[in-house]
Amino acid sequence: MAFRLYDTRLKKQVDFQPIESGKVKIYNCGPTVYSTAHIGNFRSFVFADLLRRYFEYSGFEVSQVMNITDVGHLTEDDRADAGGEDKLQKMARELGWDPYKVAQHFEQGFHSDRKALGIVDAHEYPRATEHVPDMLVQVQQLLDRGHAYIPEGTGEAYFDISSFKEYGQLSGKKVEDLEAGARVEVNDVKKHPADFALWKTDESHLMQWDPHDDKTWEGYPGARPKLDERLKRGFPGWHIECSAMSSRYLGEAFDLHTGGEDNIFPHHECEIAQACGATGAEYSRYWMHVRHLLVDNKKMSKSAGTLYTLEDLTAKGYSPLEMRYLLISNHYRQPMNFTLEGLDAARASIGRLQNCRDLLVERGATTGEANAQVGEAITKLDEGFAAGLDDDLNVANALAALFEFVATVNRLQPVGDDAKAALAALDRADHVIGVLSRESKSGVITQAELDAAIASAPAVDHIKALLAQSTVTAAELRDIAIGRHAARKNKDWGTADAIRDGLKALGVQFEDLADGVRFKLP
Ligand SMILES: [Zn+2]
Repeated sequence: MAFRLYDTRLKKQVDFQPIESGKVKIYNCGPTVYSTAHIGNFRSFVFADLLRRYFEYSGFEVSQVMNITDVGHLTEDDRADAGGEDKLQKMARELGWDPYKVAQHFEQGFHSDRKALGIVDAHEYPRATEHVPDMLVQVQQLLDRGHAYIPEGTGEAYFDISSFKEYGQLSGKKVEDLEAGARVEVNDVKKHPADFALWKTDESHLMQWDPHDDKTWEGYPGARPKLDERLKRGFPGWHIECSAMSSRYLGEAFDLHTGGEDNIFPHHECEIAQACGATGAEYSRYWMHVRHLLVDNKKMSKSAGTLYTLEDLTAKGYSPLEMRYLLISNHYRQPMNFTLEGLDAARASIGRLQNCRDLLVERGATTGEANAQVGEAITKLDEGFAAGLDDDLNVANALAALFEFVATVNRLQPVGDDAKAALAALDRADHVIGVLSRESKSGVITQAELDAAIASAPAVDHIKALLAQSTVTAAELRDIAIGRHAARKNKDWGTADAIRDGLKALGVQFEDLADGVRFKLP
């Protein structure tokens, strides 16, 4: 079965047909780096990661681009021609920082959070401030093709929505409704109240470019076009950045564009108008959008304390991968209700998967009779998992296949090559889900391993420092076990007992066997 997806523009499920066979080019609308991303933002980014990983699992060569918005995103962004203040500039004023420092700070935070959430690096993370020439090129193309105009004396450029008959196709909005809409301000300089800015001038804005200055074009890789001389010093609109940067990195036509549902209108509607208007190309063939995330069935709100960041959840003792699991296990086209109980359930699910993995690692080192039922279970997993995800990323069905496999493995207790093959199948599925540790959380350290390592046993102070942490990794546990073994050999019972108590306090199960120790991390 081929991958089927719900296309926002066509409003139905369609078979995915790549522009180029075996390859998929994806553009994801990324963060506006003026504050710390919250879990609602991450719902959209984790979805983009799931999609990318599933294409890889299915054998596609993926090119994934996610933009970083660091200029041009205004506060009143629910209408095409946004008003208010630039979000970066507003935060810069509030913090008393330079806007570039604001962008750098929150971009770094975004990357460290997304890495913790197991989000694989996109192939490019272009910043808007570094692609202003690409945007000016597109503005000029739109002027040349009659889709944009410069109101007299303004130095600004606007998109002429009456020139693009497909405007409204993605969102289902009608131009007449936009005109009648109360939020559309009547702006004297515009031909139509719903026309939107491509290039804005505002002397108070701290991030500005002169379209005609050589400095603006430094490092631009293409041929510098002849720009309309009436364009003045200013900054780009938010929508033009995505149509210009996606064209730069993925070409004028690519396969898939994603974002949150609030991006459908105006952002993506405007992107289509700009990109298709500038070149006449197809732009993105498919559009996928993620629904909102609610917290305790209510809209997230700062004042109610429900605008959770990843840091808020780790402070409550949850891990980022538990959050990842919870986010992906809710279908992207359903509104998601986030609760802390949901995270508890995610923890239990990951625990079951991890225990199965650790068991398979341990049993892969054993020998015994082959069992044909293991091979059957693997085939069933591969098929069921793919069938679920091929159906517009039906993760619930894919996870059902995965947990059925886990139950079968636990029942069959495979050995040797059967266990290794089952482990490989589990890891294939986890390439998409992305929550399992390749480091076993439980296992056995043999007497021979302990004896061999005794000469290089870590110092007692180092072990004390490890035990003083809130958690230990399997590698650290190994060091601790070796240290305890060394203490016992030296008849230093006090240290050995203190280590044992320290492990107990960390919730580590630690059991002496006849030929080694068995451990289980919490
Ligand atoms: Zn965008």
